[in-house]
Amino acid sequence: MDPTFGNNTWPDIEAALKSDAPCVAILPCGATEAHGKHLPLNTDVVISDGVASYALPNLEDADIAAFVLPSLAYAPAEYAAAFAGTISISTEAAAGVIFDIAKSLKVQGFACLAIANSHFDPANVMMLRGVVERIESELQLPVAFPDFTRRKLAETLTEEFKSGACHAGQFETSLVMASRPELVDEGARQSSDDNPSSLTEAFAKGAKNFEEAGGPEAYFGFPKAATPTEGVQTYELMAKALVEAVKNKLG
Ligand SMILES: [Zn+2]
Repeated sequence: MDPTFGNNTWPDIEAALKSDAPCVAILPCGATEAHGKHLPLNTDVVISDGVASYALPNLEDADIAAFVLPSLAYAPAEYAAAFAGTISISTEAAAGVIFDIAKSLKVQGFACLAIANSHFDPANVMMLRGVVERIESELQLPVAFPDFTRRKLAETLTEEFKSGACHAGQFETSLVMASRPELVDEGARQSSDDNPSSLTEAFAKGAKNFEEAGGPEAYFGFPKAATPTEGVQTYELMAKALVEAVKNKLG
């Protein structure tokens, strides 16, 4: 079997489902959203795909047959809606797609859906929390969802992430530099001055978009401080949380 779900044929998937190993499908959840002038619109897709691939060897070691589903590139992204290139969809539409994917997986006999999410727009996170609950209660399909906005997991990540000044800053830029360096505009990164404005504080105060939150160029944090080494370390931490969540669900 190929861990990239879509590269398999239906008999490949059927054989995996009939084997003794529990089958887990990882859904990388991202967005198509402005990420400063130095990172691509699909930054969150790149990051969630990266988390999923870093998790694969550890799942394999635990005798779990894990597949990475085609990633979800559309999400609620109203904070960035004023920037060219951002595609924001409703929470209902996003939840509907994820619920229906889960329904297909459940019918076929997958043991667990794992959600690798790196799009931390509050509307997206609330949508994910809600749909995870619905999938577990209505479909009885266990969902592994490490929610990095929860204190316990947030504390395992970098200082910038914890400060809330973390959209296209050091945290995300490091991750993209680690897995898809060709997508980072180095000149634009070097000229992106530090922006310590905290998005989470601005959200709490009622800011409705990135401009109101103090991010006129759609980035928050410290892009110039990003390194591929930090990116690899963060991928490992995020992947570890995903693997732990899967193991907990499979009990
Ligand atoms: Zn992002």
